[in-house]
Amino acid sequence: MDFAPTETQALIAQTAREFATRRIAPIAGELDRQERFPLELVQGLAELGLLGVNVKSAWGGADAGAIAYALAMKEVAKACASTAVTMAVTNMVAEVIQRFGSDEQRERHLPAITSGRYVTGAFALSEPQVGSDPSALATTAKRVPDGWVLDGQKQWITNGAHAGVMVVWARTGAAGAKGISCFLVEQGSSGLIVGKAEDKLGLRASNTVPLTFEECRVPASALLGEEGMGFRIAMMALDGGRIGIAAQSIGIGSAALDEALTYARDRQAFGKSIGEFQAIQWMLADSRTELDAADLMMLRAAWLKDEGKPFTREAAMAKLMASEAANRVANRCMQIHGGYGYTREFAVERHLRDVRVTTIYEGTSEIQRLVIARDLLKTS
Ligand SMILES: Cc1cc2nc3c(=O)[nH]c(=O)nc-3n(C[C@H](O)[C@H](O)[C@H](O)COP(=O)(O)OP(=O)(O)OC[C@H]3O[C@@H](n4cnc5c(N)ncnc54)[C@H](O)[C@@H]3O)c2cc1C
Repeated sequence: MDFAPTETQALIAQTAREFATRRIAPIAGELDRQERFPLELVQGLAELGLLGVNVKSAWGGADAGAIAYALAMKEVAKACASTAVTMAVTNMVAEVIQRFGSDEQRERHLPAITSGRYVTGAFALSEPQVGSDPSALATTAKRVPDGWVLDGQKQWITNGAHAGVMVVWARTGAAGAKGISCFLVEQGSSGLIVGKAEDKLGLRASNTVPLTFEECRVPASALLGEEGMGFRIAMMALDGGRIGIAAQSIGIGSAALDEALTYARDRQAFGKSIGEFQAIQWMLADSRTELDAADLMMLRAAWLKDEGKPFTREAAMAKLMASEAANRVANRCMQIHGGYGYTREFAVERHLRDVRVTTIYEGTSEIQRLVIARDLLKTS
């Protein structure tokens, strides 16, 4: 088995690493403290092709595949988890439009996303009363002579205040998954109201907002895919998205581990560096081992995606493993820092806050287990 990246994958990873080291890492702490959306960094990601890593070059993407995307995501997340989630959602939106959009929709939106002209994309599935079970969503879209009228609310929408285009799920038919359709709603559409940004524990430089649709009118051409196909589009998009969140988790966990390694070498107790104590060594060893295991699972899922093979179960397993491992790792790394880790002076505090959400969004750990178990029962 060959784990070496191809030339293209290595180049994308290196490009992301250099940008992350030079431009993102030096300001990540400040962005977090100021809760400032990283506009200039998003523009930089666009210039490097990192807002459409898996989008065809005809539409301005890097056309480099799912493995390359995961490698780039890890590098960006290691420097700044907020910038990483901004990038993750934008890539996911671009891939959804590439896969399910008409030629006209692709031409209208993809170059605008990949070039940074739209700043970002947004993915509006969750609602105030509906997260884990999107088949129960309540936002409606009613057909009118010149298009559709959307009414309802969305919750937790990453990039919502900055997105040139949002993929929005709404009910066009009966209750349940089959009555859901998908729409491309552009910034500034009449009746689209962007709410106040959430005051979050972590990812404080990312933008998370509620959206209200009050008789929001969109043209007939805004329908993405066929009517009633929305739920399937969402599930397929989330399969790919979960590889991205696995990569983000591994990136954050690795950043915390780097901090802990430096601290373990420097900090003295009982006349020696704490890295000489076996208790600390075991925490470091377990952390690298768990992150590497998650990394392999993530690469397997991304490889399956690149090969055009089914990868739903593998993506859910990678996301479950990576997010839970990264949470354990960040906790251990704070423990290694002792009291100093609990202060804003050390970056491990930010990593611990940032990593927490990875077991919650794009499907909680409980929902990943549900997806894995359903697939096992169906196919094994
Ligand atoms: C920072 C942030 C950014 C986000 N960005 C986006 C975004 O861009 N777009 C978007 O659409 N959404 C986004 N979300 C929403 C996120 O995907 C949801 O929060 C998540 O899916 C969980 O939904 P919920 O919060 O409604 O929890 P609920 O569904 O209410 O779940 C509550 C608890 O019950 C458990 N539970 C629910 N059902 C089951 C079950 N069948 N079996 C076992 N346990 C169960 C859950 O695991 C969880 O522990 C974001 C969330 C956050 C916090």
